[in-house]
Amino acid sequence: MSRAENHFRQIIIGSGAAGLTAAIYSARAALRPVVFEGSQPGGQLTTTTEVENFPGFEEGILGPQLMEVMKKQALRFGAEFLSRDVEKADFRQGALAVVAGGESYSADSVIIATGAAPRMLGLANEKKFIGRGVSTCATCDAFFYRGKKVVVVGGGDSAMEEASFISKFASQVTLVHRRKEFRASKIMQDRIFGIKNITVIWDTLVTDIIGDDKAGVTALRLKNVKTGRESDFPTDGFFLAIGHTPNSRAFAGQIELDDQGYILTREGTATSAPGVFAAGDVVDHHYRQAITAAGMGCMASLDAEKYLAALKK
Ligand code: NAP
Repeated sequence: MSRAENHFRQIIIGSGAAGLTAAIYSARAALRPVVFEGSQPGGQLTTTTEVENFPGFEEGILGPQLMEVMKKQALRFGAEFLSRDVEKADFRQGALAVVAGGESYSADSVIIATGAAPRMLGLANEKKFIGRGVSTCATCDAFFYRGKKVVVVGGGDSAMEEASFISKFASQVTLVHRRKEFRASKIMQDRIFGIKNITVIWDTLVTDIIGDDKAGVTALRLKNVKTGRESDFPTDGFFLAIGHTPNSRAFAGQIELDDQGYILTREGTATSAPGVFAAGDVVDHHYRQAITAAGMGCMASLDAEKYLAALKK
């Protein structure tokens, strides 16, 4: 492909709820966006099962199905999809440039919607049981654990928030933390200590997830870091709340990031580089919902459209 063929009015990086919503809006606005789908097309929602809180689906919808429908909607208006990961970006030149699959591309505007990855423990069974007892999102999945026993791992604000939310559904929530104190803010800790069906196991690591194909997760193997003692702890569900890593590495040095790597935006979705906009979990470490990411994707598309109109391109 020649250089001219690799130049677009708009490049959208990422194909989760934010990227696909941006693609729908931009395609409808005749910006002919090209979406770099990345290594996990559809984003985090493709790792969940039932989504019951996305407005418009009275009976709920499967996460992968929701993403598929959104993609079809973007395709219908002429968005183009490339199944490539963006490895590098150069936003300092006049044209906004990215490298994906070893090839260079440029655009008049770029929307970054690369999301964030929930941190995992790295256990052998973790991925196998995702959606079948292992979850990284209490807001999405707590509802499925009504009257059941659940373990939450982590000691930060996320773990407190998740445990507190799940305690409204589950009969028993056990917080497992690797140290003797939480790093969460005092107000969040106090809230946890005041909830009757939450107990804490300190100084303990989760070293294995036990279960089978039929029942899903049935227990966790726990190891006390002080005594070295291991034991199996029966549970119906296991929520990971040990933080997220924003997928922003390819943009480091090109746009302003905060100290955790989240993209900083101003005036809506504008980043520090003119013509580059950002939306979804790569910006937002607070709400992290499919619907908020979709809303930001819409905002980024409208912001980019206005920018392009001012450029008269
Ligand atoms: P975080 O503050 O980085 O906490 C991560 C927790 O997970 C820590 O307690 C850490 O243990 C534990 N952890 C990390 N890796 C682990 C591993 N391999 N095995 C076992 N435990 C592990 O992450 P976060 O809680 O997601 O919070 C991220 C940011 O968002 C923070 O700035 C937080 O204040 C903010 N936040 C705010 C709110 C709110 O205000 N409502 C809600 C959620 C998040 P150690 O403590 O031993 O390191």
